Amino acid sequence: MAGKITVGADGVLTVPDEPIIPFIEGDGIGVDIWPAARLVLDAAAARHGRRVEWTEVLAGQRAYNETGEWLPKATIDSFDEHLIGIKGPLTTPVGGGFRSLNVALRQVLDLYVCLRPVRWLQGVPSPVRAPELVDIVIFRENTEDIYAGLEVEAMTPEADRLRELLADAFGWEIRPDSGIGIKPISKTGSQRLQRAALNYALDRGRKRVHWVHKGNIMKFTEGAFQKWGYELVREEFDDRAVAWDDCGGDPGEKILVQDTIADIAFQQVLTRPNEFDVIATMNLNGDYLSDALAAQVGGIGIAPGANANYETGHGIFEATHGTAPKYAGQDKVNPSSMVLSGMLMFEHIGWRDAADDITRALEATIADRIVTYDFARQMNDAKEVACSEFAQAIVDRI
Ligand code: NAP
Repeated sequence: MAGKITVGADGVLTVPDEPIIPFIEGDGIGVDIWPAARLVLDAAAARHGRRVEWTEVLAGQRAYNETGEWLPKATIDSFDEHLIGIKGPLTTPVGGGFRSLNVALRQVLDLYVCLRPVRWLQGVPSPVRAPELVDIVIFRENTEDIYAGLEVEAMTPEADRLRELLADAFGWEIRPDSGIGIKPISKTGSQRLQRAALNYALDRGRKRVHWVHKGNIMKFTEGAFQKWGYELVREEFDDRAVAWDDCGGDPGEKILVQDTIADIAFQQVLTRPNEFDVIATMNLNGDYLSDALAAQVGGIGIAPGANANYETGHGIFEATHGTAPKYAGQDKVNPSSMVLSGMLMFEHIGWRDAADDITRALEATIADRIVTYDFARQMNDAKEVACSEFAQAIVDRI
């Protein structure tokens, strides 16, 4: 019988064999990629004697058309109650109350980790020579930084007032025609992200964790992130992880924790990707780094993502690309990002066998050169198929 996923005080999920999982189909190409992904997810679950009881919730354009709201309370309540959910891409309302529905969902449920595993799958066209060296998991902080929305527009009474306050309190002179943004980075926000990254690394047998920051310039925000990260390692993970400075780069059996300045990190993930394993970083760095890395392994059409809170147990898994409206309803686009987000969700709820099947079958499909238009245009001798046919080909290999 279908039941709810629950969470214990330790953050550990209890998952029935038939969990109820809410989904948002998504706008634009959501009508194409969600049914395709669902076909694959259902086949992989069934192979291991399990079944998902999907329950649809609304957000985005469809929600607005049907309810007059972009993000109905019933949707938030359902994600809150069922803990784990999955979503397709959403149109960002122009001039509406939200900056972005995705940001709103992350904030309301305090989903402080944006998890982006980036790994090359055999056969996927890539712009780099050795994409197989990329196997990196990014933990991007989701609730703070310059993304917190604390900004005022240039030459408004708010900006004038803030400039005056800063001049009075700190003697800071800011040009009168400046917009101003605030960049909060807290010890609490930093360490809960870094703790999640370390626990993930330990759980998955990963060997290294990097703090990526620009602390040489932004000393009390990004620099503090680095400092608090090392404090956490020494205070809470002493028996399982060690900072580079405390072991001279020889961690023994422990996880090695080091840090890299953001600009050089961008160079090194391209030139020496195999030296990176798990990366934890702040919101803006993480946003850039996730897409730059995704490009090395085939682009956003195949990059999965998750937003999670490891204490409350909440997690929303999502395709990382947008609604690509020009392709909507044409059964044309690549459903891989959605499929792999579902794979990540299965992994997260402990269904690693079904998750592995999905990755293996997706890889086998691409290895057989059966692909959607986006990959076909970069490959020789590929067989271009529709979105739904691609999903069926994966199911056949499951
Ligand atoms: P987009 O929807 O990601 O599409 C940009 C281009 O990326 C497409 O034209 C297509 O390239 C390629 N692409 C995207 N998804 C693909 C897929 N599944 N398979 C193959 N190719 C794919 O970005 P956008 O056009 O800038 O944004 C459109 C809307 O989406 C906006 O309303 C934006 O706010 C929203 N958005 C939502 C999310 C989200 O919900 N997470 C994220 C980003 C943007 P080609 O034309 O080269 O084939």
